[in-house]
Order: sequence, then C-alpha cells, then structure tokens
Amino acid sequence: MAKKRILITGAAGFLGSHLCDRFIKEGFDVVAMDNLITGRLTNIEHLFPLKEFTFYNHDITKFIHVAGPLDYILHFASPASPIDYLKIPIQTLKVGSLGTHNVLGLAKSKNARILVASTSEVYGDPTVHPQTEEYWGNVNPIGPRGVYDEAKRFQEAITMAYHRYHGLETRIIRIFNTYGPRMRLNDGRVLPAFIGQALRGEDLTVFGKGNQTRSFCYVDDLIQGIYLLLMSDYAYPVNIGNPDEITILQFAEEIIKLTGANQKIIYEDLPVDDPMQRQPDITKARSILGWEPKVDRAEGLKITYQYFQSLSKEELYNKEHNNFDQFISK
Ligand code: UDP
Repeated sequence: MAKKRILITGAAGFLGSHLCDRFIKEGFDVVAMDNLITGRLTNIEHLFPLKEFTFYNHDITKFIHVAGPLDYILHFASPASPIDYLKIPIQTLKVGSLGTHNVLGLAKSKNARILVASTSEVYGDPTVHPQTEEYWGNVNPIGPRGVYDEAKRFQEAITMAYHRYHGLETRIIRIFNTYGPRMRLNDGRVLPAFIGQALRGEDLTVFGKGNQTRSFCYVDDLIQGIYLLLMSDYAYPVNIGNPDEITILQFAEEIIKLTGANQKIIYEDLPVDDPMQRQPDITKARSILGWEPKVDRAEGLKITYQYFQSLSKEELYNKEHNNFDQFISK
C-alpha cells in the first residue's frame, strides 16, 4: 500500500512539531509548513535528515502550492498565546481567515481530509461551565482577544461551509490549555511564564487575584486526541482537554513546590477579557473517540520542567523568543 502523505501547517510550533513526530512514527510522509513567526526550526530540526520529511518556509495566507497527492491536512498555523496575538493582531486574523481559506481550497483540490485546530477561546468568558460543544460562547469581538477568538470562530464557520457545500471531509478540534516540552519559554503563557520565573529566581506574576481557573492537558494526551479525531468520521467540533481544573493561584503554588524555588507570588493586573473559568466537558471525546487524558498534572509538569531546565542560560534570559520584528510593518 502506498504511503499516506500529510501536510501539517504550523509545523515548527509547539503542537505542530509534536504532530510531525507522531505522524512520522505512524509511517506517514510529512510535508511540514511554517513561516517561523512564532515557530522555531529547533523544534523540528531532528526530522530534517529523514527522507519522509519535507519542510517549506511559507506564509499560508498566500496561495499554497504543494506538488503531488495529499491524503490529510492538519491546520495548526496560528499564533496561540495572548501576548503573541496582541503583538501581531492582523497576522492572527489573516492566518485564521485567509490562511484557513487557502488550506481548505488545497484540501478540496487534493481531495484530502482536513482537521483544523480550533480552541476553547471560541467559548470566550463562558457562562456555561464546564463547556460543552453545544455552547455558543461569550466572546467580545472588539476586545484585544477578539482577533484570535473571532478568527477561530470564522475558521470553524468556513470549515463547516466547505463540509456542507463541497462535501469536504473536515474535522474540528477545540483545544483547551495544553502544555509540555517545546513551548516557548517567553510566549507569555502561564506555565512557561511561571517556570521561567522560577528558574531565573524571579517572583511569580499572578494576574488578578488568581481565582480564575484553567484546566491543563499534557501534550501527549492532546496529540493522541488529534490522531483519533482525524481518523474518525465525526465532522462536528470536539473538545479535547483535561477536565482537571485549578485556580491560577493554586497553579503558581504547585510550580513553586515543583521547582523548589523559594519564590514569592506577586499580583499584577488581570488582562482585559481574561476568561474567569475554563473546563472542558469531554463527554463527546469519550463516547465518539474513546479518548480521555492519561497523564496527570504532577507527571506532566515534571517532564515539562525537565525540558525547561535543559535550556541554555542564553535561552532562559532571552526575553524576545520570536521573529516578530521582520513581520511587523512599521
Ligand atoms: N497568567 C498569570 N500570570 C502570568 C501569565 C498568565 O496569572 O504570568 C494567567 C492569565 O491571566 C490567565 C491564565 O494565567 O488567567 C492563563 O493564561 P495563558 O496566557 O496561559 O492562556 P489563556 O488560557 O488565558 O489563553
């Protein structure tokens, strides 16, 4: 049987790079694409010697050309951390809208099945708890997070339109906070922020009172969920996340304990429209995919901490871990 061929957009990012590893391991030919705004080649350089792996440095908001057949597409290109999409709001909107349109057009022309990465952010600051896929959300379209939330909501809408109008095989995953090795230390998200602060001997910055909640999923569990959803025949959105919910203050205390750093907690302003609570209802993932998370927070945090400990001093103190400047028009 011919080898299956898969395109992964956002392949040099945190999740994209783990997906490259997984699909190489499953015996696929992997075509990886990234424009390296927030992705990093170090996440995938170990795959470069493999003949099953090809990398294209390309901005998917421009026409995408891929020679040869494609069986599957995983669309994971997007800035995903709040400070990233605050810094590059237009690019965030463009990749979720124009980028998704191009990727769907490519899927249609190749007759490929496509899975798009959506997010718990489509629920905004939710008034339903835990969040089920049937909940339509509570999003502020003109707030600072609107550029990401609305791009992802548009992405879901256009994906369903391609499914309904063109009969394209589509899958939509709604990803809840995920963590693990290869997160960018300075991407602003709470876990790398806290671990980076602990490693540098700085105080941990809790935003607001720290009574807002999140539910953190270890990356291996998420990747398994993506694999199962791609191989399923279910076209509607599915939440994938770990329902184990915790306040941000408790999370800071856990990180202090884990790192053995005697750091203090300091309080800073809560960002605008920061969701107060977030927990996935994973009934659908359980019943449709037979999926549930296996790695508990203690275990996942230990592995992730080891990864951050292995980074060089230069990386630990480099506050600008991105390539924004070359993309931001002055
Ligand atoms: N947060 C915090 N201190 C930090 C970074 C984030 O208290 O240094 C909080 C943030 O306000 C939010 C939560 O941690 O309530 C998770 O933030 P993150 O940026 O990781 O992602 P989000 O879930 O908001 O998309």
